Amino acid sequence: MRDTWPLLKTTDFPEVTRNALEILQVNLGYLCNQSCLHCHVAAGPTRKELMERENIQHILGVLSRSSVHTLDLTGGAPEMNPMFRELVVAARERDITVIDRCNLTILLEPGFEGTAEFLADNEVQIVASLPCYIEDNVDGQRGKGVYQKSMQALQRLNQLGYGKDGSKLTLTLVYNPTGPYLPPSQQALEQDYKKFLAEKFEIEFNQLFTITNMPIARFGSTLISKGEFENYMNLLKDSFSVANLQGLMCINQLSIDWQGFVYDCDFNQMLNLNIRHPENQRKLHISDILKTSLEKIPVLIADHCYGCTAGQGSSCGGALA
Ligand code: SF4
Ligand code: SF4
Repeated sequence: MRDTWPLLKTTDFPEVTRNALEILQVNLGYLCNQSCLHCHVAAGPTRKELMERENIQHILGVLSRSSVHTLDLTGGAPEMNPMFRELVVAARERDITVIDRCNLTILLEPGFEGTAEFLADNEVQIVASLPCYIEDNVDGQRGKGVYQKSMQALQRLNQLGYGKDGSKLTLTLVYNPTGPYLPPSQQALEQDYKKFLAEKFEIEFNQLFTITNMPIARFGSTLISKGEFENYMNLLKDSFSVANLQGLMCINQLSIDWQGFVYDCDFNQMLNLNIRHPENQRKLHISDILKTSLEKIPVLIADHCYGCTAGQGSSCGGALA
């Protein structure tokens, strides 16, 4: 894979500083029932990296004694971490909102029966990737048969109350472009998804997030290989919108990797841009969070940050505008 970092590190992106911490995004490991071609962490069924009990305890400590109100779980398939349920229950007992970034097919896997019911019982919010509502496009990106299984999983979630009007169980779908262009209007695309999925599968969901592709990891490497990197960076920079700066997720969120190391966001995690301890410059760890004030410290920025401010803006919570 081609490394995009040398092309990103010199930047004129505006300085960003942190506010109070509100959201903890935690990668529970790279184990996954799928092995999608585009996966940015190369997750798959043979991966062994999983967050262990000691770091889960540190996460719970932060949830108990900080301003964090939301725990956002990602992976791999976060449900495959053996401590997933214990962590969710403990977080909900602390009145923390829990988000599960779910690939949908895990809900149908042998050995994971009852996962959908568990999520509903604990009022976990589900955010599920569905890069397109057309079958061939989804199977091309995520593997043969994934689309049909995803539809089955969405229907199951609807039966449990997810995505229904008046229900507390929110179901969000996530779109990202398949090529070097910006996502279309989130609002308009949401209407297209809703119409298609309702008519064809009687599926309902609450909202669609559109997320801009970052010029890093596998997508960035492909851009370099095809000679499209510079054009894509120019597109991101030409589409810069200053209004998006105030909504950047790195202002109130931290990203934690499966070993407990701390980053400004998931993208910086992929670039190994660790937050350093303000006093001794070693890599900051989840066990340091309660003893370290991160408010007002600068975020580690580089040219990939233009991916968050282009057009309608982008974050793990969808468009910013
Ligand atoms: S489902 Fe998600 S985590 Fe799993 S391989 Fe695909 S992209 Fe990676
Ligand atoms: S890439 Fe990360 S650090 Fe850069 S602006 Fe976006 S959220 Fe902030």
